[in-house]
Amino acid sequence: MAWRALLDLLFPPQCAGCNALGAGLCDACVPRGIVRVRFPMLAVTAIGAYEGSLRTAVLALKDGRRDVAEALGRVTARLVARGSLLVPVPTTAKRRRVRGFDGVTLVARSAAQAAGARVVTALEHRSGDAQRGRSRTQRLEAHGRFACDPAGIAARRVTLFDDVCTTGSTLRDCAGAVREAGGIVEDAVVVAVTKSTASWNMPIVS
Ligand SMILES: [Zn+2]
Repeated sequence: MAWRALLDLLFPPQCAGCNALGAGLCDACVPRGIVRVRFPMLAVTAIGAYEGSLRTAVLALKDGRRDVAEALGRVTARLVARGSLLVPVPTTAKRRRVRGFDGVTLVARSAAQAAGARVVTALEHRSGDAQRGRSRTQRLEAHGRFACDPAGIAARRVTLFDDVCTTGSTLRDCAGAVREAGGIVEDAVVVAVTKSTASWNMPIVS
């Protein structure tokens, strides 16, 4: 792709962690091992804790760095099973407008390409109208924030995909929407988990 080569020439991929040229996250800045966190009905696997170079990379992704998205996808691919269906947690429309793209979906596509998996963008944020009429408590519980299109996921096993897992409430909400649409979901792959999540879940670090 000529435009891609031109982009790389104008904005050479640069490590979000240490500024080395070549990739959005260099090998030296990728944490060793993986982190697993278990929630009720959902097992989450991450590249590492949300700190250091991984945190810098996620922030760069939120800033719209495509080179970092692609690098995070290649790194996350080692957590993705061949042939699996990845369902990204959608970015809000407002954020997408600011960044110009949905960072999580871009990371998921890069991971799927490297791992031989597929991405199905089945989830979307419910509109403000759908939230209206809900009590404050209902909104705070944050259930029902997402809608899931059954096409492509009904009766299929899917893996949720997100950038950062903090309390797990977003992932569990998404899992609920997938199940309501007839999909089967027991696990999620994320780039990073926050330390607080990791500590109260007693992760297995390998
Ligand atoms: Zn680096």
